[in-house]
Amino acid sequence: MSRVHLVLNAGSSSLKFQVFLDDGADVPNRLYRGLFEGLGTDPHFRVTDHDGAPAGEERWPGQGAFGFEEALAHLSDWLGAHRGGHQLAAVGHRVVHGGPHFAHAVRLTPEIIAELDTLSPLAPLHQPRSLEPIRIIARRVPGLPQVAAFDTAFHHTQPEMARLFAIPQSLTDAGVRRYGFHGLSYAYLASQFPKVDPRLAHGRVVAAHLGNGASLCGYDAGRSIATTMGFSALDGLVMGTRSGAIDAGVVFYLQRELGMSADEAEHFLYTQCGLLGVSGLSNDMRVLREAADADPGARRAIDLFVYRIARETGSLMAALGGIDALVFTAGIGENDAETRAEVIGALRWAGFELDAEANRAGATRITRGEGPQAYVIATDEEWTIVREMRAVLGAETAH
Ligand code: AMP
Repeated sequence: MSRVHLVLNAGSSSLKFQVFLDDGADVPNRLYRGLFEGLGTDPHFRVTDHDGAPAGEERWPGQGAFGFEEALAHLSDWLGAHRGGHQLAAVGHRVVHGGPHFAHAVRLTPEIIAELDTLSPLAPLHQPRSLEPIRIIARRVPGLPQVAAFDTAFHHTQPEMARLFAIPQSLTDAGVRRYGFHGLSYAYLASQFPKVDPRLAHGRVVAAHLGNGASLCGYDAGRSIATTMGFSALDGLVMGTRSGAIDAGVVFYLQRELGMSADEAEHFLYTQCGLLGVSGLSNDMRVLREAADADPGARRAIDLFVYRIARETGSLMAALGGIDALVFTAGIGENDAETRAEVIGALRWAGFELDAEANRAGATRITRGEGPQAYVIATDEEWTIVREMRAVLGAETAH
């Protein structure tokens, strides 16, 4: 029976998980990755070994009542029975919002869980979902250590100007400010900068997390100084189904002229816009690339995606006072050479010079010349969570 650390990432209808050996190693030793998807409709469980080989799969067709509770019970049974059995030593959770106060991961107690619940109005679609598995585990296995790692925490180093909206101070004090998200991904990238190139660790860097959600982060010597997501994960770049930055006047228009309620307008901007809304075809970049030659909507969606990335990179360059390097990550950033080439092409004015061959071949550095350089680094949010969890629990034992 080996002791393991479980990392959970709860989505709207999915529960992703990864399992790491609790062996005290400095580099986390990953055993499994898996997920439950279709929760609430047609649940489906899939898990692979660290090398990607299938390790388990199960389906519960039509079982709408199968939710987080059932998923966690199934996962616990699976871990107990698989390969001589694994015993849970601790659980780390991705929690979307840490609010103004949580600048680091934290050990979860009933008081902290209640405090995190008070942040739900700041992220109504995500925060309650993040807290559900935490509560279920606290009830089922009360003594098991649980730690929350926040998507907002990495951005606590930002200067005041990067955080403020131009609104009365009383509203700012009530928490209406820019927080930024994707922090677990940006923290992972920062941890890799020294290994990839010292320029990244010491310089002015813009990282582009381009997945279904998308944002940019400006780093000065590895610390976040500005980011494109703000009060919510709706701000900034064009995303798979989210609009990104939009004039607040459009929200009033949706309500007044189209008769949407606040909830409907929110749902619309999160799920019907972005690449999907502009193309009228798909939120999936692979589908859009496939269609782009023949379908003007797909081409327009891609062009707007790239245009906004280049324009927001310029904005972060102004905040950083220049740029030494650009980093691409996440589903599109890591896999779509065409998007990378188009973004770098749009940033030629800043001195970037694409190395087309390196870009196509999937090299780490994809530019050449004397100007700023661009890199591709695969992100790993779960690695950040397990490292932060170990730091929190290790610090407790040290006291
Ligand atoms: P993520 O949210 O990080 O999983 O990223 C999802 C996005 O990455 C989707 O738009 C996918 O179409 C895109 N993606 C994944 N693989 C590729 C690929 N090989 N080429 C282009 N886009 C990809």
